[in-house]
Amino acid sequence: MKDDNSLANGGEPPSDHRLQSLKGFHSAGRGFWRDVPAADWNDWHWQLKHRITMPEQLQRFMPTLTPEEFAGAKLANHKLALAITPYFFNLIDPLDEHCPIRRQVIPRIEETRTASWEMSDPCGEDSHSPVPGLVHRYPDRVLFLVTDRCAAYCRYCTRSRLVSNASGYDFHPEFDKPIAYIAQHPEIRDVLLSGGDPLLLSDEKLEQLLGRLRAIPHVEFLRIGSRIPTFLPQRITPELCAMLKKYHPLFMSIHSNHPRELTTEVRDALGRLADAGIPLGNQSVLLKHVNDDVTVMKAHIQKLLMCRVKPYYLYQCDLISGSAHLRASVRQGLEIMTQLRGYTTGYAVPQYVIDAPGGGGKVPINPDYILSHNADRVVLRNYEGKIFEYPEAPDGTPLSSPPKEIEAPQMI
Ligand code: SF4
Repeated sequence: MKDDNSLANGGEPPSDHRLQSLKGFHSAGRGFWRDVPAADWNDWHWQLKHRITMPEQLQRFMPTLTPEEFAGAKLANHKLALAITPYFFNLIDPLDEHCPIRRQVIPRIEETRTASWEMSDPCGEDSHSPVPGLVHRYPDRVLFLVTDRCAAYCRYCTRSRLVSNASGYDFHPEFDKPIAYIAQHPEIRDVLLSGGDPLLLSDEKLEQLLGRLRAIPHVEFLRIGSRIPTFLPQRITPELCAMLKKYHPLFMSIHSNHPRELTTEVRDALGRLADAGIPLGNQSVLLKHVNDDVTVMKAHIQKLLMCRVKPYYLYQCDLISGSAHLRASVRQGLEIMTQLRGYTTGYAVPQYVIDAPGGGGKVPINPDYILSHNADRVVLRNYEGKIFEYPEAPDGTPLSSPPKEIEAPQMI
């Protein structure tokens, strides 16, 4: 298969064939598991039980595994475990070493190399944790880490110090202390369940947790952050959706990085969540040779809208140890944003952010659309590079007539 990233920004326009392969919806298919009964294949427990977790297994399923990948897979279980669901594995193009799906889940030896500016806790979560498993960084909301397990493991995971429990971090998720903290802090009106992946909990356990949080009067708003709709769409059962809809307002942030992750299975799973009244947003990470290309990014965000998902954040890849080989530059991120804003539906355009190293929180990063801002006017650049003036009264109060020295807005 053709490398989706062979055309960098400013390169040749994509061929119709390439665009179609990015935009169309296709099933992941069964691949090596073609003899597995459909009832098993569509059972999320079967998918979890048959995950690829060992280097030898990976090599057997993918003889084109490179020495760098095999070495990475050998060392992964000391850092961030290797695990790939059969469903997601089938999205990998084994003939393409640079396959954007492959780069996200197959370890490489480069993960063992740490740049001097990389960290094990790049967002400073541990220093903002009043009780184990809870991060309270912003005034009115908390991050509640309800599990340390995921359906599959992303090689750039910002929380790789604790997810999969491979590095000896010794994290033991528990509910009582975080819930007691939330109950004692009336300023907390928004709780984001994350981990690990909360949708790995059984329906019963998740319902118990949501029920306890809903019973706290000042908790207005619940959110779940999950990669499961893309790693394991089989988990999004009608029963799960029927349970979740009892706890509104409940939003979900999914995680997808490339249009090929949005299969017919994922589209249908997201449709079930949307039909349950759950507003869906997507969080992507800008990744080298995965989505650092405006054609790929635009196809992805447009396809997300077709799946009833609002592209929410595009993250600059955090400075997590061993991720340099996956990190695209801020310059590339800004260039992509410049080529999205105005060129496609505003709903499709995510907010590009950097999670400030050390715990400063998300900082929005935007191309420069304000060229100058004086007491009486703002000079703006639009998406086409045209310049406009927006006059305003010096003290901000509306005037019955515009100040004489300011002309009506005009294109310069
Ligand atoms: S699903 Fe989320 S928490 Fe799990 S490995 Fe991926 S980024 Fe990390």
